Amino acid sequence: MAKRKPLVAGNWKMNGLKADAKELKAMIKAAAKAPGYACDLLICPPAPLIPVFAEAAKGGTVKIGAQDCHAKASGAHTGDVSAEILKDAGARSIIVGHSERRQDHGETDAVVRAKAEAVRRVGLPAIICIGETLAERDAKKTLEVVGRQLQGSVPDGATAANTVIAYEPVWAIGTGRTPTLDEIQVVHAAIRTQLTHRFGPEGAGIRILYGGSVKPDNAAGILPLPDVDGALVGGASLKAKDFLAIASVYARKPSLAKKRRS
Ligand code: PEP
Repeated sequence: MAKRKPLVAGNWKMNGLKADAKELKAMIKAAAKAPGYACDLLICPPAPLIPVFAEAAKGGTVKIGAQDCHAKASGAHTGDVSAEILKDAGARSIIVGHSERRQDHGETDAVVRAKAEAVRRVGLPAIICIGETLAERDAKKTLEVVGRQLQGSVPDGATAANTVIAYEPVWAIGTGRTPTLDEIQVVHAAIRTQLTHRFGPEGAGIRILYGGSVKPDNAAGILPLPDVDGALVGGASLKAKDFLAIASVYARKPSLAKKRRS
């Protein structure tokens, strides 16, 4: 089986000011302490903060990403930001298709796919979000909806390097509610099957993150599930302490040599 390095990504949404780079610096400092974390760490602040955060993150293990992009490279699109501009500002990954974008801006699977293609055009990985509403879950349509979103939102030619999937049940985002561990694993396994069916061995290497009210007190149950390769974290990513408590599920074990010394 393809080895997948977990990813713990923080989505700051419309939160944060330049002064909050101090929280990022606290994360970077704590993450640098031995033995460290056997996962990738990513923080996605609002777009105007990307250059400030990227500067603060230089040389550390926490990378900086963006929350959305326009599908076009440039042009007359007032208020929008292209993947090219975000990369130039310091973004190293870009989230697309978050349910808040789908809901607030009417983004369809086709729009999300075009955005994911734009992210690929600039050579960055796209974190493509999918997930069902509560009404869809209650109607037992979760797998059907997630399967359709996956098919429609992920461009052809997806690889482990250019694509990350984030399964985020809409009703779990910011609510403190989560599916059961079994329910999460069932959806992730279905996503994995669809990815390997469509993309072959590359599909087996694509990381699938769980998102929706991941907190320090539930991460230890969710993150070790067989088809969960990390988390997309909203509220709990705003504080270094909480974000790293989640990532600590992947904390490296102190080496034997170090243990013997202490
Ligand atoms: C999110 O915004 O992607 C998210 C998962 O938010 P929260 O962790 O706050 O539910």
